[in-house]
Amino acid sequence: MARITFEHIDKIYDNGFQAVFDFNLEIAHGEFVVFVGPSGCGKSTMMRIVAGLEDATRGDISFDGARVNGKSPKARDVAMVFQSYALYPHLDAYGNMAFALTLDGCDEDYIERRVAETADILGMRPYLKRKPRELSGGQCQRVAVGRAIIRRPKVFLMDEPLSNLDAKQRVTMRSEIIEIHRKTGATTVYVTHDQVEAMTMADRIVVMRDGRIRQVGTPRELYFRPADKFVAGFIGDPPMNFIPCAAAKGGVILKGSDGVLKLPARFAGALAKREGGEITLGFRPEAARFGGGQKAGGGVAFEARAQVLELFGDSVSIFAEIGGHSVILKTDPDHMPEENETVKFTVPADGIYLFESGQNEASIEA
Ligand code: ATP
Repeated sequence: MARITFEHIDKIYDNGFQAVFDFNLEIAHGEFVVFVGPSGCGKSTMMRIVAGLEDATRGDISFDGARVNGKSPKARDVAMVFQSYALYPHLDAYGNMAFALTLDGCDEDYIERRVAETADILGMRPYLKRKPRELSGGQCQRVAVGRAIIRRPKVFLMDEPLSNLDAKQRVTMRSEIIEIHRKTGATTVYVTHDQVEAMTMADRIVVMRDGRIRQVGTPRELYFRPADKFVAGFIGDPPMNFIPCAAAKGGVILKGSDGVLKLPARFAGALAKREGGEITLGFRPEAARFGGGQKAGGGVAFEARAQVLELFGDSVSIFAEIGGHSVILKTDPDHMPEENETVKFTVPADGIYLFESGQNEASIEA
């Protein structure tokens, strides 16, 4: 296990492109940290810098306080699992898992014991004699994970390890990887563009965009207290609804309407400061409450026109329109409206968010 510290990391590739800007972070011993963000945001670049496959242009990276810039992956004692399993096709699952230990000159008894232990953690005992072509995608990925953890590395790195698996296998492997992390306790950095993976697996999530960290926090912190509109829109499925408005006394005026929509009292000061200025109102699809009775606690009442309905069995997604803006509302099938029906719903006070307009669209704290 290792504590990993990043200080002011910049990465500029040889062609002059800057992929990472002033990356600062400390990952604790044994922590499971997920780097997440849209394609091209720099998450794999950061992973490669941790691994020692890429050098930082500026800044320091340390393991347990000792600077590791310039050290090889082997000297850093990291193990990696990539999207492509990159197994040796001519070796069986046993041979693939044993490979690093054989290379290190470990004796046969020791290797056999370690492969057996690792295969037990992964549920792969029955498949050790099979070659990669005789294994399913999920089983191949387990062998790749086994090959990495068998060395008991200080740091375990995974770059989109589930993206070659089908939806069902992904769900299974997600919980298996969490279980493996519990058993091994290795500090883990996991890269994905899938916010569901990030939310379900991480101790802490690092949300990146355009080479910069936008927010670091636990899944709960990111979901309930997003730092800006980008994080609010990236975390959560379906994403948060955003409605452009003008700030007014005690509330907002939705574009295309003239009445003031009263907002919870905690925003009064922030709204007064911005009166007449553009801001964005946000609420999550699942925060919509149908059937009345919620307004008393300072909730905000909305009316929307339902356009398209998607029934999932246990829930309904209502694609609707509020004053010309598309929103998605989630509810249970009991509150399923008709298409084109006007629906009334409330969002509880703590489900209302405001964001600055303009460049960084920061959350307006109230
Ligand atoms: P994805 O989810 O698509 O894998 P990512 O967030 O992992 O994306 P990176 O692979 O870290 O993104 O790339 C970040 C940026 O750096 C991208 O714009 C990419 O085109 C650029 N980049 C990556 N490798 C190089 C390189 N060797 N030379 C120049 N630019 C590069």
